[in-house]
Amino acid sequence: MAVYHGPKCRQCRREGVKLMLKGDRCATEKCAVDRRPFPPGMRLSKRRRSATEYNTQLREKQKIRRIYGVLEKQFSLYFEAASRSSGVTGETLLQMLEMRFDNVVYRLGFAPSRSCARQLVLHNHFTVNGKKVNIPSYRVKSGDVIQVRAKSANLALIHSSLKNTKELSDWLTVDKAKLSGQVVRVPERASIPVNVQEQLVVELYSR
Ligand code: SF4
Repeated sequence: MAVYHGPKCRQCRREGVKLMLKGDRCATEKCAVDRRPFPPGMRLSKRRRSATEYNTQLREKQKIRRIYGVLEKQFSLYFEAASRSSGVTGETLLQMLEMRFDNVVYRLGFAPSRSCARQLVLHNHFTVNGKKVNIPSYRVKSGDVIQVRAKSANLALIHSSLKNTKELSDWLTVDKAKLSGQVVRVPERASIPVNVQEQLVVELYSR
């Protein structure tokens, strides 16, 4: 599946918020949103046009898409699946994105960012329930056990990331000594720490 390979900080500056796409760097003074708090290609002094309703909805969709590193087509497939489900569409959409394998690897603390988790998954460093899985979009389920493969147990990146992980989501458990983690349940909205208004995306697709 294709993925955006352009500058990550540019995406944050475009949305005007820290999307935390670069792991530890995002918490330092090097963050581009802090240093240049205006959209790419626009000077600080230039005034932004007032946002229309459509534009506000569009920006919220782009923000979510960029946080999870999902391209347009794939995102609309997630939305279609969420709208067919019996739950609240916006919440289901976020739940589907959270249950992506690359996101779960990131949330477990095995990688400092989602893009890094994606690379680790692609390079066969993990198993799910004992089986090798190298598909970043693979949807994990409640009860699934994610394990770092024996051949990857000495990867410095995984160990430094685990060491720097401060908080673990309450829908996951991790055993740092065994380099394994488990999905305890599908997270409800309150357990998904992304500052977005998913309802605006529902409104955008209802147009
Ligand atoms: Fe975004 Fe992180 Fe770059 Fe800051 S450092 S602009 S939060 S990707």
